[in-house]
Amino acid sequence: MNMIEPAQFITEALRGTLRSNVAMCHHTSWRAGGHAERVYQPADLADLIVFLRTLPADELVVAVGLGSNLLVRDGGLRGTVLLLHAALTEMRIETDGSIYVQAGVSGAKLARFAAKHNLRGAEFFAGIPGTLGGMLAMNAGCYGSETWNVVANAQTLMRSGKLLEREPDDYEIGYRHVVLRKKGKYLEHDDHIPNSLPFYQEEFFVGARLRLPASDGEIARREIKSLLSKRIASQPLNLPNAGSVFRNPPNDYAARLIEQCGLKSLQIGGARVSEQHGNFIVNVGGATAEDIENLINKVQVSVQHKTGICLHPEVRIIGEYANTHE
Ligand SMILES: Cc1cc2nc3c(=O)[nH]c(=O)nc-3n(C[C@H](O)[C@H](O)[C@H](O)COP(=O)(O)OP(=O)(O)OC[C@H]3O[C@@H](n4cnc5c(N)ncnc54)[C@H](O)[C@@H]3O)c2cc1C
Repeated sequence: MNMIEPAQFITEALRGTLRSNVAMCHHTSWRAGGHAERVYQPADLADLIVFLRTLPADELVVAVGLGSNLLVRDGGLRGTVLLLHAALTEMRIETDGSIYVQAGVSGAKLARFAAKHNLRGAEFFAGIPGTLGGMLAMNAGCYGSETWNVVANAQTLMRSGKLLEREPDDYEIGYRHVVLRKKGKYLEHDDHIPNSLPFYQEEFFVGARLRLPASDGEIARREIKSLLSKRIASQPLNLPNAGSVFRNPPNDYAARLIEQCGLKSLQIGGARVSEQHGNFIVNVGGATAEDIENLINKVQVSVQHKTGICLHPEVRIIGEYANTHE
């Protein structure tokens, strides 16, 4: 881990947008959920660093990309959401041939950029409707490829505004699983985050260097097209959803188990298990976060009861239950 001195980034005034009491249904692909106390959309990385340095030491912070793997409970989120997708959008080819991509870049843009520069191995990003930051946090992947397979190193920003460069070895990385192995020198002081609120962050991704082999961009473009057609054919993309709700258990598929248990079309309020893909829950209209979470729990209990297999959610559920403010 190297610390990058961010002095060069410091500017005087904030240039981003700070809003209060923001409905997170506008920032999550399920189009459901509660309000965030504050949302800051930085102008760029330099502005984000300045903003973090203005925050009180006990302010809780959570980074959000495109909200495509996220459910914010109806009681909402205390603290500040950092909305990174429209902010950290830089991409460039480095002198060593790697590409530097900021955390707010979408999977689709990243895949197209790599193909345009005759690089291969980034095609799978095209079908994942999130940002690079969310994909690094989730180790998102599909069709046999995973985000961290192509990461040379990651750039992270601490809650205090310190910029770090981290190696893949700094993380325990697995299937939809990324955890910092050991808290570093600058990660020791997170006592202000209560243990019951694990989704608040002391450090988050702001970019990464990706290493991709050279190839013919036309081949990559054809691959992107073919992957997108497969998705359109197999996923209920006409209704708000958050992709696969559960991780696949070893040697099996969550969708197959859900279908086998007769749970397709099960509905609670406005949340329904998709007829097209058993591992998707769609918002058929007016779903609350509670509807969605109750349906997730019901599917989990039914599958466990009928097959003995415990499905673990892949989607991140954050925030507080309605009417439970302390
Ligand atoms: C139709 C559809 C298809 C999908 N297909 C796939 C698929 O094939 N494979 C797959 O893996 N996923 C898939 N997903 C899920 C989702 O797109 C991925 O998990 C994606 O990586 C989430 O990115 P995001 O920017 O939307 O993250 P968000 O949903 O905004 O956040 C997800 C989590 O990451 C954290 N996070 C976000 N940004 C950062 C950051 N900069 N630093 C640190 N933490 C951060 C958040 O705090 C949250 O805990 C799909 C979703 C949909 C809706």
